[in-house]
Amino acid sequence: MRILIVAKTRRGTGACVGGITQHGQSVRLIAADAAHNEHAGLEYNVGEVWEIESTPEPDIIPPHIENIIIHSAQRLKLAENIEAIIRRFMPPVTGGPENLFDGRLQHLPSGALFIAERTGLPGRSTMFWTPDQPLRMDVEAKRIRYRYPTPDGGRLLTFVGFQEPVEVIPAGTLLRVSLAHWWHPSDKPDDELHCHAQLSGWFLPENSSSSSFSSSHPVSAPTPVPDFARARHVLKQTFGFADFYPLQADIVRRILQRQDTLVIMPTGGGKSLCYQLPALLHDGLTVVVSPLIALMQDQVNQLRELGVGAGFLNSTLSHHEYVAITHRIREGVMRILYVAPETLLRPETLVLLEHSRVSCIAVDEAHCISEWGHDFRPEYRQIQNVRQRFPQTVCVALTATATPRVREDIRRLLGISDDGEFVASFNRPNLLLCIQPRRDSLGQTLAFLEQHRGQAGIIYCSSRKGVDGLSAELRARGWIALAYHAGMDADSRRRNQDDFLHADATIMVATVAFGMGINKSNVRFVLHFNLPKDIESYYQEIGRAGRDGLPADCLLLHSRADAITIRKFIDEGAASERAGRSARLDALIRYAETAGCRRGPLLSYFGEQHDTACGHCDNCRSVARPADMADATEAAQKLFSCAAHTGEVFGAAHIIDVLRGSKSRRVLDRKHDKLSSYGTGKETSKDDWRDLLQQFIGQGLLEQDVQFGGLRLTTKAHLVLKGEKVFVRREPAKPAPALADAAPTGHDPELFELLRTLRRELADQAAVPSYIIFSDRALVEMAKQLPRTSEQFLAINGVGETKLANYGEAFLKVIGDYCAAHRRDPSPNSIATASSESEPTRWMTAHRRHEEIGAGFAAGQTLDAMAKRFDITRETVLQNLARHAETGGKVDAARLLGCSRLPEPERARVFAAFKQFGIERLAPVREALGDSISYEELHLLRLCVKCRAR
Ligand code: ADP
Ligand code: ZN
Repeated sequence: MRILIVAKTRRGTGACVGGITQHGQSVRLIAADAAHNEHAGLEYNVGEVWEIESTPEPDIIPPHIENIIIHSAQRLKLAENIEAIIRRFMPPVTGGPENLFDGRLQHLPSGALFIAERTGLPGRSTMFWTPDQPLRMDVEAKRIRYRYPTPDGGRLLTFVGFQEPVEVIPAGTLLRVSLAHWWHPSDKPDDELHCHAQLSGWFLPENSSSSSFSSSHPVSAPTPVPDFARARHVLKQTFGFADFYPLQADIVRRILQRQDTLVIMPTGGGKSLCYQLPALLHDGLTVVVSPLIALMQDQVNQLRELGVGAGFLNSTLSHHEYVAITHRIREGVMRILYVAPETLLRPETLVLLEHSRVSCIAVDEAHCISEWGHDFRPEYRQIQNVRQRFPQTVCVALTATATPRVREDIRRLLGISDDGEFVASFNRPNLLLCIQPRRDSLGQTLAFLEQHRGQAGIIYCSSRKGVDGLSAELRARGWIALAYHAGMDADSRRRNQDDFLHADATIMVATVAFGMGINKSNVRFVLHFNLPKDIESYYQEIGRAGRDGLPADCLLLHSRADAITIRKFIDEGAASERAGRSARLDALIRYAETAGCRRGPLLSYFGEQHDTACGHCDNCRSVARPADMADATEAAQKLFSCAAHTGEVFGAAHIIDVLRGSKSRRVLDRKHDKLSSYGTGKETSKDDWRDLLQQFIGQGLLEQDVQFGGLRLTTKAHLVLKGEKVFVRREPAKPAPALADAAPTGHDPELFELLRTLRRELADQAAVPSYIIFSDRALVEMAKQLPRTSEQFLAINGVGETKLANYGEAFLKVIGDYCAAHRRDPSPNSIATASSESEPTRWMTAHRRHEEIGAGFAAGQTLDAMAKRFDITRETVLQNLARHAETGGKVDAARLLGCSRLPEPERARVFAAFKQFGIERLAPVREALGDSISYEELHLLRLCVKCRAR
């Protein structure tokens, strides 16, 4: 049977599709596997003719009598004149809604139209209508509705179609209306069931329906290549970075020249900037395809904080949100759009993009396109078709993991030439690599966590049970520990992930299911409680630490028992994969057991050479300079003789108890208080004893019983008892110093904490994770450089103009107050732009500049004159003026308003936006108003509001 598709409406993640059969009968198409198929119905489009095999739905519930179950379907062609076919086979009713559905519609006080069983059912649930009055979009409601005017306030139909909504649907337009499912509010189960009337689409003449597109035709004339010098400027101005990371400059230059590019960079290498920066320089929209839906909100938040118009389209959006985003795309205020691959492939998304000006398609996690990659996704394959639909755009593919074979696939499928491939070094020098034999796993974990109090990190366990057990154990000991594994329900997982992203000091205990697309920049440690399955996984997992470039700690608890378990899995798995997987596991074990620098073998695994010792792994550190080593012979002798005298069967806890003279039952019952070593180690804390013990085990002096944990002496230990010397690291293994005592960063830890608290407050206000406000790295720099002026603040890594505008005042105040209280001077080697202020006296006048500017303004000087006098921008003058007002100075609001360069209607828009979004943060206001209104004006008008309110 042939069916002409006449309607397509949203239902869940899929579509409900309506058609007319060749016999003129109205049908609604239901996929046979609709219950399982999340995206059911999306393949159909209005106007297409399909050849269908179907059966009537077995359980028809009136009035929904049109349902048929589809068993097979094949697209034939596009119909010529769909409107004429409809008018012929399903003639529309005219007039008002009272004529719809056999005159059985009723309405709620709001105007919403519905039918109820009590008043009788219409013969069908779908029909066409040509209203005698125009329908207008009703923007008040959560969902989009259209209002048919009546003297008593109008009648409302919810819009559920896939079309782009229009403001007004003219009278006489052919509309399709249908009845929704039977429904009552979930909190009123006793209410009568209703079917609401909904509008599923309309047939407007071609050009009027697309007239709302700001540029209804894709531009074909090539636009000029943006100047690379501007890229550097935007790098600082918008992103706040003084310099490019390795390869970023070359990549950006190439993308600006519209040459397709493949970027291979490790996690944290700075891939996003490679397409985000060109996006701001190209005209038009950059579309970023990413499979990581969970990440999109985060990335969009980050961009909005930078003052960049960004949004995303994926299946998590409500219809209303979806429509809002498409509006912004059409208005051209959107520069960067993230889309999930399946969303990109939807016909309506493609139509939307074809009417927008797409300048660049960025394919993130590009390895998903290759069957040779570890995460092949079939939808990714179709990106190449999409690519062909947009021949004018430049394409950039990015990934952190790609073997040569995968790279070749990506290049071939997306048509990227060989010279377009950029491979960055995989070395992450800020990651401290440590591996300990797993002995007392909980003890080792707690000792490690102790070094990271107040920081966020991830602990990877191999099993769900392990995750549940360890996270509970940690919580019982007062740590903030969350769990994440695939066995948990989706809600709990999402909640825990969100909590982790938002918090500064939370431990995520997880299986490897966690972490894909976590771009929290201040993960300070990753602990592998179990052995990963290969170096790729290990490197990807530790790669989630320290993305901000600050030191981060990676510890792996290595155990042969884990290796045996993994081997068992390999043996049970596909025979064809055994050899490869087993070889990869061997490589990991060799890496874990190497006595030399760890970085060499790690990088050579990724095909990179690293010859010199890195100095930043446990092995490099333990070939420690003598100055770092302490003679521990006496302690070793005490411990070894205690172990020997108790029969070499007791574990660490008991031996330490005896050494420290514990009066516990266990000790007294066994008469271990009578031993000569009893109480000889009182001065050493339990933790220090544990650390010593680990080091002795590490040096092969002690062996631990795998099953019961009993400590046995080796021959080497007996030599020590006879007088041979033992040396240990002076400090307990303290890999990367915790931030608070991080000497290398040389910042003030107390101020850092104050800044962190402020960041937390601002993040909570804005309901975003704190690293989205500023990275840890930016705070460390502030606590080191002690910026006191806007210019100095701008020199901090990660501070661009938008961040300065939004947060400069608050952070400068905390820093200023702190410096005043502690009589601290700014760091002499700080702040690139402070050149004009290098003499010490400038610092003293600098923080009183706002008074001078306040006085100047009161005396009638113009903003421009003062900008010139102090050699600063008008915006900075305004910020000083604001500071002046805030510290009690007077600013004449009327005169200030007179300094605005905006025309009156524009000003009114700004004030309205202040009303809507508040005046605390300017970014959302600017976001709403678009780029045409500068921050300078926003500062000015905000100050007017503040001064008037005073
Ligand atoms: P990837 O996607 O490659 O894992 P990101 O794009 O998330 O890495 O970048 C990692 C971190 O480095 C982010 O916090 C980002 O802001 C920062 N970053 C990127 N480029 C630079 C740069 N040129 N200077 C300083 N920081 C940068
Ligand atoms: Zn090393």
